[in-house]
Formats: sequence, C-alpha cells, structure tokens
Amino acid sequence: MIDKMRRDIHYLRLSVTDRCNLRCAYCMPADGVERMSHADILTFEEIEHLMRLLALLGVRRVKVTGGEPFVRRGTPELIRKLKRLPGIEQVTVTTNGILLKDHLDEIVCAGADGVNVSLDTLNRENYRRLTGADDLNRVLESVTAAAAALPVKLNVVPMRGVNEGELEGLAAMAKRDVVAVRFIELMPVGRAKRFAHLDTASVKAALEARFGAMEPCDDRLGNGPAAYFRLPGFSGRIGFIHAMSEVFCEGCNRVRLTADGRLMPCLGRPDFTDMKGLLRGGASGRALLAALERGIAEKPARHGFLDEARCAGRDMNEIGG
Ligand code: SAM
Ligand code: SF4
Repeated sequence: MIDKMRRDIHYLRLSVTDRCNLRCAYCMPADGVERMSHADILTFEEIEHLMRLLALLGVRRVKVTGGEPFVRRGTPELIRKLKRLPGIEQVTVTTNGILLKDHLDEIVCAGADGVNVSLDTLNRENYRRLTGADDLNRVLESVTAAAAALPVKLNVVPMRGVNEGELEGLAAMAKRDVVAVRFIELMPVGRAKRFAHLDTASVKAALEARFGAMEPCDDRLGNGPAAYFRLPGFSGRIGFIHAMSEVFCEGCNRVRLTADGRLMPCLGRPDFTDMKGLLRGGASGRALLAALERGIAEKPARHGFLDEARCAGRDMNEIGG
C-alpha cells in the first residue's frame, strides 16, 4: 500500500521470537533477555491471520527474522504456510546460521526463496568473543550447504576495533560461494550504542585497496536499500547498506511485525500498533485491517537514529533487525 509519504510499502520483516542461541555483543545482553512467555508472543495461527490481512494491503515479500528464527519450533512450517498465502510472492529468512544446516531441507521443501546469514568474523576466537559461542564452523558448514540449495547472502556489521581487519576476508566469500556479501552500518539501537560503526566509505576503500575498483551494478538482489557492486574476479556481489551515512528513508518499503505482535512502521522510532491486543480483544477482521492500514499509512518520513530521544529503546533482537 502507499503510505502518507507516497512510498510503496510491500515488504514485511516478521519476527517470530525474541530468543536467540547467540549473544552478539551489539544486539543482545550477555545474560540473555527477559524472555517473553509463550503467551506473550503471537501464535503461528495469529501470524497467519495478520499476514492474510497484510497481503490484502499489498505486502508481497516477507523476511522471517528474530531473535533467531530457528530457535522457535515450527518456523519451517510457518514458511510453508506463508508461501501459500494469496499475494505473498517471496519468503526469505535471516539467521545466524547455527541451526540452518539442520533445517535446510525443510525450508527448501517449504519453498523458501533465499536465506541471509549473519556473520561478522571468520576468526574463531573473535567469533566466540563477539557471539559468546564457539560455533563458527557450524555456521560455515551451514553457509556451504545452503549455498548449494538456495540464494545465500551474508550480512556483516563492520565495527571499529572488532572486525575491521577482517572485512576483506568476509568479502571474499562472494568470490564464489554466496550471491552477495552485504556490509550493514551499525545502527545505534539498544546496546549497539556501545560500539563504533565503520562507515560504508571506509569499508569500500579497504575492499578496493585489496581487490581493485568496484563497479556499481543494477541487479535487484533483495528487498531493501542495499546498493550492489561488482569486484574484479568475483562471481557474487558486494552490497552496502548505509543505514547511518545516508538517509535512505525516502525509498523505504518496509514495516515490521514483532514477535509480541507490534506493528512497527520504522526500526528507528518507538511507535507501534498493538495488533496482539486487538486480535485477542476480539477485533473483527475489518477492524484489524483498518488498524494495519492506519499503522502503515502513518509510517514516519524518516528514522530517528540521529535523534537519540526518538530512537526505539529496545534491543535489535526484540525488533528483528
Ligand atoms: N538472529 C538472526 C540473525 O542474526 O541474522 C536474525 C535477527 S538479527 C537482529 C538480524 C540482523 O540484524 C543481523 O544481520 C544482525 O547483524 C543485524 N543487527 C543487529 N543489531 C544491529 C545494529 N545495531 N545495527 C545494524 N544491524 C544490526
Ligand atoms: Fe541473535 Fe541475530 Fe542478535 Fe546475534 S544478531 S544476538 S544471532 S538475534
């Protein structure tokens, strides 16, 4: 649907859980989150109900996210159901990769259109330090297995003093295995404010120094604001998401539904519509549709990342990235 800024909103990031099997230092507290109880999160039936309505409003593409989507039992089955909904053209998943290999056959059978794997380092010790788990090899095995079955993109968040020496190695994954390696500027959400982001220009300069000049390419590889480039000798692409250094809100096409049923029109603003409350309060389909429509129409003109007071006060695992 078209929002009040005349943007075509057709992409939904659907968080199915706030729980995670990792503790990425910029995303999750080291001792985990105060977990929402099962009663607090939307059931798959509730999600399906809202998704049918969102599809009526023009949502065509869904990214299943979290927390870690594969820690919630039944996520592959949810993907299968989403894929069957009238109007939904594409369902993809964002995962840390730990459980991806175990669920790969199921999500391929369910009709998943692709997977994004988040990986910020290829150094085992650094991975353990950053995530709290000694599971780098499992993730790499998942990436290899998934790349043989589905389009795979790697998401990397470059951070000063954390992984800045490793970006060339991560980019090299796009030489053959994965369709794209995307560098996402760290957004100051929750505990990420303790880390310093590395801007796209610095990352690009480091990659060009190592691999040669980048050529912009027009390929539409995803749903979002990533700009893609080709590096000499690479079969995959390098993508950049300038979440901080350029405001991309003008072209934003997305809204979010959190695990506890909040429709959030913007990652960088605290405003939401409590869809769970309405659903469980017995709202009719028509009333739910009207609430979704209002929530989307009111999407703010721009995020509040540069405006501390207006930023969403939640950590990223609760919102879904
Ligand atoms: N657990 C899954 C994963 O890691 O892919 C899905 C949820 S995670 C919140 C989604 C994405 O958000 C990951 O790629 C993660 O690196 C990214 N992310 C988390 N906090 C971020 C921040 N402050 N700024 C930019 N990206 C962030
Ligand atoms: Fe978990 Fe993903 Fe957040 Fe890491 S980035 S703690 S894997 S939700």
